[in-house]
Amino acid sequence: MRQHISCTRCGSTQVISTEAHDAWDEISCTECGEFIDTYGHWEDSRSPNYLIQLLDRSRTLTLQMARVAQPSNDSEHRWRA
Ligand SMILES: [Zn+2]
Repeated sequence: MRQHISCTRCGSTQVISTEAHDAWDEISCTECGEFIDTYGHWEDSRSPNYLIQLLDRSRTLTLQMARVAQPSNDSEHRWRA
């Protein structure tokens, strides 16, 4: 399976294979050599998986708690995407 990923520095598109890589292998730009991501993190970020679902669930819980709690500490607990 082949996927495309854009370089965050020069914007060139990389074609990478999702197979035969370890999660900690690095994805680097073939144009400028910029480190883009690791395969493990990249795969996590492009598809809903257990960890993302867990984060979504905890965000929902945080929002529910924020509605119940005093509004004064809203800004301190703002979710960072
Ligand atoms: Zn690049």
